[in-house]
Amino acid sequence: MKIYDGVIDWGIKRARDSKMIALGFHSVIDGLVKVDPQKFGNLDLAIPRELSALPDSIKCIDDFWKGLIFSFVNGSALQLMIDSKEVYEWIMKTFGTGTLRLGGTSANMAKGLVPFPFEKILVYVYPLEKEIANLFPNSKNLFVVGKHGLDHPINAYDGEGIEAIHWIFEFSQGQSMTIKGKIYTCPRSNRFIASWNPVNSKLEVRDPFKSYVIEHAQDISHFLVSGFHIMQEIYPDGETVDDRIDKLLEFVMALREKNSRMKFHLEFASIRRDGVRKAVEEKLFSRFDSLGLNEVELSWVARDIGYDEKDILNLDVERISQIISKIMRGNLSRVHFHALGFYLLALKEGYNLESQKKALAFASLAAAQRAMDGEINLERFKYMLDIPEKYDYKEWEEDGIHFILFPTKVVPSPKITVGLGDTISSLGFVLG
Ligand code: ADP
Repeated sequence: MKIYDGVIDWGIKRARDSKMIALGFHSVIDGLVKVDPQKFGNLDLAIPRELSALPDSIKCIDDFWKGLIFSFVNGSALQLMIDSKEVYEWIMKTFGTGTLRLGGTSANMAKGLVPFPFEKILVYVYPLEKEIANLFPNSKNLFVVGKHGLDHPINAYDGEGIEAIHWIFEFSQGQSMTIKGKIYTCPRSNRFIASWNPVNSKLEVRDPFKSYVIEHAQDISHFLVSGFHIMQEIYPDGETVDDRIDKLLEFVMALREKNSRMKFHLEFASIRRDGVRKAVEEKLFSRFDSLGLNEVELSWVARDIGYDEKDILNLDVERISQIISKIMRGNLSRVHFHALGFYLLALKEGYNLESQKKALAFASLAAAQRAMDGEINLERFKYMLDIPEKYDYKEWEEDGIHFILFPTKVVPSPKITVGLGDTISSLGFVLG
């Protein structure tokens, strides 16, 4: 069986036939800082070796350094939210904004989808200020809702400023840093992300976007929701994550009422705060049609429901499918798990298996090509077809769920890896 045959043309045609695709609720500016650890001097801090030794958000300057040291010394990526305005101001003073780039799951998805002939990609951006508007690609099929309806962000922004920024501190393999008088070398090029986003951390769906999509619900075929990782358990005004998730759910239900054919996808991302993650698992999973996550994210879900996370991190397919079966309740009828080398797709009845598989193949080509070149270029997809897959294709039924283990294309020395998960999940969902 040739699982990649004909998928490029198929995907292009499928995109052309699409209706409006909506993406919410997390678009932000990333500030890229290439770190020079020599400049830090001697840091007098204990090195956190395990994730559990880290604070779950940054509340003081020491927390910031702990996160940075953790990533640097262990060579593993980490994201922490900044909870203190003083720390935010200190980082700004110490490092500046760095190089500005478009970020946030929704904006990343938009960037990954607009190169294809989808008719309309509608993205939620709040606050929609000049700085972020300028970072969006100049594509004809990209829209936000402005004061006068659908428009490109650059024609619709309101005000100027940077009220939210996700700093990406990048370090390279071989750089060294002095901690408690000892020199440590970075084992692997990596990044530490410190995010300041109080302005959108409630994931509030605001006007004019809100009224527009309610009014035009019939035009929207797919809605991809993400950004939960920037939420807080309790907000300074006393509201809780449960309150906020209930509000979001009300919005989703209002849209379902207006258009029962609209499909909703939840992109999990790395939700570090226990209370936020559990609220998403308990309140939202069963209300969405589709869910996308990677091995680290599923390992947290597994732990939350009483399983050993290590099996998931070790990519034990049997255990992965078992956990997925457990969470597929209510509306949740599609789960797209992605790891390096394969995807596992779980489907309940009612899906067209052929188009689901082709969508995975297309997503895999897109991820590989984006990894290789840094940005999507449809013309170069065909070269990805020659990369051999390392897993065997497999398809089976269990507990009334159809599982597809889909081998993907892996690029040996990628130019970028950030944002690939968003590309994979969004293409798999909207094309499937
Ligand atoms: P991010 O949050 O940065 O998007 P994820 O872990 O969600 O990261 O997604 C990364 C996914 O990208 C992996 O699961 C894998 O499927 C794909 N990927 C990573 N590296 C490569 C590569 N070199 N070539 C092709 N695909 C890759």
